[in-house]
Amino acid sequence: KPKCYPLHSVVLLTILILAFFGYGFLSSRHLMPAGVRAGHSVAVRDPDGWQVVTLSRMLYPQPMVLTPSRSDALTVTPWLAPIIWEGTFNIDLLNEQFWLQNLTVGLTVFAVKKYMVFLKAFLETAEQHFMVGHHVTYYVFTDRPADVPHVLLKEGRQLVVLSVRSYARWQDVSMHRMEMISNFSEQRFRHEVDYLVCSDVDMKFWDHVGVEILSPLFGTLHPAFYTANRKAFTYERRRRSQAYIPWDEGDFYYIGAFFGGSVAEVQQLTSACHQAMMVDKAKGIEAVWHDESHLNKYLLHHKPTKVLSPEYLWGDWLLDWHPVLKKLRFVTVPKNRQKIRNP
Ligand code: UDP
Ligand code: MN
Repeated sequence: KPKCYPLHSVVLLTILILAFFGYGFLSSRHLMPAGVRAGHSVAVRDPDGWQVVTLSRMLYPQPMVLTPSRSDALTVTPWLAPIIWEGTFNIDLLNEQFWLQNLTVGLTVFAVKKYMVFLKAFLETAEQHFMVGHHVTYYVFTDRPADVPHVLLKEGRQLVVLSVRSYARWQDVSMHRMEMISNFSEQRFRHEVDYLVCSDVDMKFWDHVGVEILSPLFGTLHPAFYTANRKAFTYERRRRSQAYIPWDEGDFYYIGAFFGGSVAEVQQLTSACHQAMMVDKAKGIEAVWHDESHLNKYLLHHKPTKVLSPEYLWGDWLLDWHPVLKKLRFVTVPKNRQKIRNP
């Protein structure tokens, strides 16, 4: 006589199997590298579904109160925002926290006119190093949608092409990024992603850039000025400009090429900078470093909640670097400014 299993045990077994595999697809944990995932967490079914997770037991070195993680660099601002350097964070801990929230990161990048040449390497290296194991949406703003390269994306990552107009002057292309990011934040980003990271396109990722950068509002130290006195910062110094900063003010000189935060904060920042640039334009003045000058003014009065060290943006022209830099994670690509900026 063949063995006969009662129907209810088959149903139960099916539910258990679905619960086990279904959990993986419902949460972002299935994006984790296998080494991290193994044995770390278990799914538990509860009356509302199968998203309840019992926290993993994590083993990691104890933080020691009398042993600073870095003794060679400032790791916290006077307003108590962390400054992110290698050695100050445990990425496994941060990934665990982030995965539990199942969040998505949007990365905005503009490839207008000739700057399209940088996009392929930017995206390929981002696939290797940017937010690996997390949900990512690339937002590529361009006037040449047909020229966007096809780059194979890992699971959980997608690319959205946004058609935008171009401007004749490179300064206008650069400055109008603020307006476009602000408009698209309102129209779609706030419905689609939790954080926005806004980047130049003439860049390559070289090393890990992950969730340690995420915070309601973050800026990045400009690699040419991180040891400089505030009087040497290239802030806008003319009073007539909305970007004006007096000589005796200023915390840091932030680079225009890498900033971000929650969608709400980025929307406020970009719309404030755009409005300030419109006021300047009406007065016939343009800030010395364009959008970067306005970003610096905004971040002086809206202190960022995290500050990224120059590990997160290094310049190809800076030939040797200070031992404070243990890693160069994101580096500019050399370019012929004359050639790339002119028709
Ligand atoms: N940009 C663009 N097309 C242009 C000029 C600028 O797409 O014709 C965008 C691009 O993302 C670029 C950013 O604006 O990375 C800032 O310009 P650029 O990188 O030339 O400024 P720099 O880093 O040299 O100050
Ligand atoms: Mn650039």
